Amino acid sequence: MLTLTDWRELSACRDSDPEVFFPIGTTGPAVGHIEKARAICTACSVGEECLQYALETNQESGVWGGYPEEDRRRLRKRWLADRRRRRQEAERQAS
Ligand code: SF4
Repeated sequence: MLTLTDWRELSACRDSDPEVFFPIGTTGPAVGHIEKARAICTACSVGEECLQYALETNQESGVWGGYPEEDRRRLRKRWLADRRRRRQEAERQAS
């Protein structure tokens, strides 16, 4: 089983240009960088671990798990709501 951080050893972006995964802005050249990053993420074997880490640690910048910043913000809202529901359900079952 992978630990919280060792998934990085298997990342497809390990040797990529950081500018591709952390473009400045969301328009102009950044659009091409984001698309290139997403293409690399598509072939990455640790995409789920990467996205989970980004959601748990609230990574605000860059492309993680194939999701650029704006998409990840929307995803995180749903993720937080689901986590809240799971915790409430667990508390109900424990009481
Ligand atoms: S999913 Fe994308 S950002 Fe995450 S480790 Fe893989 S290639 Fe890197």
